[in-house]
Parts: sequence; structure tokens; C-alpha cells
Amino acid sequence: MVRVGVIALQGGVAEHLHMLRRASEETGIPVETVLVKRPWHLDGVSAVIIPGGESTTIGKLMKRTGVAERLHKLLVEEGVAAMGTCAGAILLAKRVRDRVRGETRQETLAAMDIAVTRNYYGRQRESFEALVKLEDPTGLAPELEERPLHGVFIRAPSIDEAWGGARITGKLQGVGVAAMQGSMIALAFHPELTSDTRLHRLLLRLAKK
Ligand code: GLN
Repeated sequence: MVRVGVIALQGGVAEHLHMLRRASEETGIPVETVLVKRPWHLDGVSAVIIPGGESTTIGKLMKRTGVAERLHKLLVEEGVAAMGTCAGAILLAKRVRDRVRGETRQETLAAMDIAVTRNYYGRQRESFEALVKLEDPTGLAPELEERPLHGVFIRAPSIDEAWGGARITGKLQGVGVAAMQGSMIALAFHPELTSDTRLHRLLLRLAKK
């Protein structure tokens, strides 16, 4: 049984629950999901999803509730698997820039060695869809490299740099849109808004490792 916590303080939670249910059926990995609003909801989880939404709001709420401190430890010290989509990717990053205001002091979990730019695509292209080619450095999801993924981008960030243990695993026209580090996945787009469960399957396999 894999226990997956979905951070449920703000943002798009329901779609991830649906994808986890499907990924569980497809992989045969039994999954129990828990909505995380308080630190103790993270007890016993082996994977966490940080959804899209407003990263400044989710960041503040995670700090205020104590979820941030507990989650930081789980990710950095205990190697719990994680997937952050859009705002969630921003929250995993060690460095955040704002497209308009430059370097920010936004609260993040600082778990991945990546630098991101919030709202990279600006106003003109607030949302769009594109095919993204992804690498799977883990070897756990060979199906990920078979064909590109349909990415839904909504006021999406870019992933500008990766250092240390992190690596950019997907680019769109030369701009980083996916990164991995150990068992953590940062995505600028929203796989939960499509019917493609490949990344959720990868998360379950990372959690089982
Ligand atoms: N632009 C949002 C932020 O910076 C992210 C948007 C999203 O998660 N779809 O937090």
C-alpha cells in the first residue's frame, strides 16, 4: 500500500485524486490518498503531490500550518517521493524569480536544486497546450519516453536552471518545463488536466522504490 498525501490548502486537488486512482488501477499498486491540511496528515506517506494554484498563497499556508517544516524534512532527509505541478513546482524550488518583480523572497520548501521563474509565459500566453518530450532518468517509466506528453500550461513557470542532484528532464522550445531530483518531480504544466497518467504512475513507482 502506498500512502499519497495531496497538499489540500489551496489549488487543484480533485483532479490529482482522480489520476492517482487511475494510476493505481493501471500499475496494480494499491494507493491510499490523504488530504494534507495539517502536519500530522503527512504521517506514513511515501509520496506527496503539491498541486497547482497560487504558489504564494499555498506557501504561506504551508508555513502557517506547520506543513512546510514537516514536508521539507520528509523530502530532503527521508527521500519521500514528490510531484509538484505548476505552483507546486515553484514550491519545490530553491530559487524563485518573478517575471515582473525579479528575485522574490517567496516561501518555498527549498527541496530541489532548481531555479524557476513564476509566470514566465506572461500575459499574452496565459494558458496554452503543447506536446512535451520528457526524459526518464530513473528508468522506472520507460513509457514516458515513447511519445511526448500533452502539457497544459496555465500561468506556468519556467525551470531555468538545475544544479546539484537536479536535472532538467523536459524542454519546450529550449525552455525547461520539467525537472527531477532523486524521487522528486517538478512540472511547469498540469498532467492532471489530461487523461495521461504516465507521470502519476512514475510517482507511485518512485514511492514504492
Ligand atoms: N502562476 C501561479 C503561481 O505563480 C501558478 C499557476 C498554476 O499553478 N497554474 O503560483
